[in-house]
Amino acid sequence: MNFELSKEQEMTRKMVRDFAEEKIAPRAVEIDKNSEFPEDLFKEMGKLGLLGIPFPEEYGGSGGDTITYALAVEEIGRVCGSTGLSYAAAVSLGASPLYYFGTEEQKREFLVPLAKGEGLGSFGLTEPNAGSDAGGTQTKAVLEGDHYILNGEKCWITNAEYARSITVTAVSGKRDDGRNIISAFIVPKDTPGMTVRSDYDKMGVRGSNTSEIVLEDVKVPKENILGDPQKGFGQFLHTLDGGRISIAALAVGIAQASLDRALAYAKERKQFGEPISKFQAIQFKLADMAMEVELARNMVLKAAWLKDEGKPFTKESAYAKLFASETAFRSANQAIQIHGGYGYMREYEVERFLRDAKLLEIGEGTSEIQRMVIARQLGC
Ligand SMILES: Cc1cc2nc3c(=O)[nH]c(=O)nc-3n(C[C@H](O)[C@H](O)[C@H](O)COP(=O)(O)OP(=O)(O)OC[C@H]3O[C@@H](n4cnc5c(N)ncnc54)[C@H](O)[C@@H]3O)c2cc1C
Repeated sequence: MNFELSKEQEMTRKMVRDFAEEKIAPRAVEIDKNSEFPEDLFKEMGKLGLLGIPFPEEYGGSGGDTITYALAVEEIGRVCGSTGLSYAAAVSLGASPLYYFGTEEQKREFLVPLAKGEGLGSFGLTEPNAGSDAGGTQTKAVLEGDHYILNGEKCWITNAEYARSITVTAVSGKRDDGRNIISAFIVPKDTPGMTVRSDYDKMGVRGSNTSEIVLEDVKVPKENILGDPQKGFGQFLHTLDGGRISIAALAVGIAQASLDRALAYAKERKQFGEPISKFQAIQFKLADMAMEVELARNMVLKAAWLKDEGKPFTKESAYAKLFASETAFRSANQAIQIHGGYGYMREYEVERFLRDAKLLEIGEGTSEIQRMVIARQLGC
């Protein structure tokens, strides 16, 4: 693996960093405090081509790669976890399955507007009774003539309220061995029978939209089934493998922000007549944080590189997601500790990093599920 970023990757990183610092950072506190979804920022990000980074130009994208996309997620996550999560979900969960599995017509109709940033995508897998065990989906799709009729409920779906289209999974039949066949369906947001509510009061990532979706006799043309109807289960496993790289990149962003704030504060805060950064106990915390951030970033870049090279990356994306999300939580926690009482106050923002980081150990497969994925890859 070549550890030097290409000129294009460096340029995109700088462009996203400038945008994040100028436009997103000054609003991060309010976005969190008011649980405000920054729709206008997403429009600007769309115009800059950020929502289409990993998709080819022929589908409205910027023709970048997974590494470039991961760098963009990190930069946005470094200033605002909420915006970072909605960005990562829009690209990795909303648009990517359409690119991986969609027919040419589906790509033209549904992927192109998302890649151009004209709307956001959303991915509805989780249900009240099917979380880690997503194969336990209870939403049903019944074929009636030329349409599927969908009934069921999805919970905690990122971006659904602001989405142009939502890809939802549903049981569409039974295999010979009696197991359910799960398929994915592209449901345009304005389809009658689909109700989207965003009433959750969350601990962190408060400005990221999280919605409940109720599907009552939702009628979608059978052309809206995503790719091969028999392969919905494999589709979402592949989608989540890719999504984990972006969650890991977001975690690196939060961990880096925690380190930056803690280091700056430690150099400034004086106790016992000298900056607290002179105390070995504080230095060791900062050293561990710096080492873990570096390692987590390398894991993200390796998983992204493997994906770009068309090599298997299931194990490496699980490594990256597991390690980076736990690193983000530890780093944010240490940043609060280094700030002492000030760190416990909202004004210093590091407590927001901890609240935002916690989600990353849960969404797109909990830490326990990542360990199961890794163990399976080891042949257990
Ligand atoms: C803010 C937010 C945004 C989200 N966005 C989306 C989205 O856009 N789309 C979407 O489809 N979903 C989304 N989710 C759902 C998320 O992916 C699930 O919450 C997650 O997969 C875990 O499912 P669960 O919450 O039902 O937990 P459960 O599966 O009930 O797990 C509870 C606990 O049991 C553990 N556990 C479960 N099974 C095992 C096992 N076999 N072995 C060991 N431990 C186990 C878990 O690790 C966890 O600690 C989001 C969730 C949140 C909070």
